[in-house]
Amino acid sequence: MLELTRVSKWFGGLPALQAVSFRLDPGRVTALIGPNGAGKSTLINCVSGVDRAGEGAIRLDGRSIATLPAHQIAALGIARTFQNLKLFDRLSVLDNVLAGLTVTAERSFIRSMLRLPTLRHQERRLRLRGLQALDDFGLTEKSAWPAGALAYGEKKRVEMARAFVSDPRLVLLDEPVAGLNTIETARIARHIRRQRSAGHTMLLVEHDMELVMDVADHVVVLDSGRCIASGPPAAIRSNPLVLEAYLGR
Ligand code: ADP
Ligand code: MG
Repeated sequence: MLELTRVSKWFGGLPALQAVSFRLDPGRVTALIGPNGAGKSTLINCVSGVDRAGEGAIRLDGRSIATLPAHQIAALGIARTFQNLKLFDRLSVLDNVLAGLTVTAERSFIRSMLRLPTLRHQERRLRLRGLQALDDFGLTEKSAWPAGALAYGEKKRVEMARAFVSDPRLVLLDEPVAGLNTIETARIARHIRRQRSAGHTMLLVEHDMELVMDVADHVVVLDSGRCIASGPPAAIRSNPLVLEAYLGR
């Protein structure tokens, strides 16, 4: 589905990604792991068009997306969450989730926001979709709350609901459980497994090895911008190169 070929990225002469190649298969959860500063967020930024790869190819179903702007990449069905939450604190939880539909349903969403009477039915349809996504992530009772009033763990789930509401082909999750306690982490793990069962393809950037072992079908390991290993979770856990990257510093 998504294929990266020798993707490189520099920040002011310093390499953040160095000739990274791997492939994502549909319907699977691929975990992208590695120590802090390994290049994981940079990679997600390049795939989602938030940033631009300096070199290499990024293809979605054979089509090059490396130079497309973020909104076009989103329109092709790649959704993402951010490591640092990006919610509109003063908008309701539901409106935050509906913002995830602005790409696929851009015009009808804007019209519905303008309250054009002939488009009221579309507004209802979109609201129902948003409410369904909130329900999927256990947020139904909070739909009318301002997002800023939620607990941190709930905000993380709002971000996930927003990513999944458009029924995207691929979801990039940047550290969805960072800063969460064990109960909230288990809850997110459950949501990821459920979305996987529903057929969603995910790239999960994660620090938490337990979560990776729990939900990933395949693991790619980055260290200092290089792909140092990839394979099934069990093999990765005992790979000496990976152990060194994690423990050797
Ligand atoms: P990770 O998500 O794996 O922790 P990042 O992708 O955030 O790592 O960062 C990879 C490297 O690129 C780090 O050395 C980081 O300091 C650097 N980097 C990331 N973003 C920027 C930026 N906008 N400007 C300069 N350097 C950056
Ligand atoms: Mg990061």
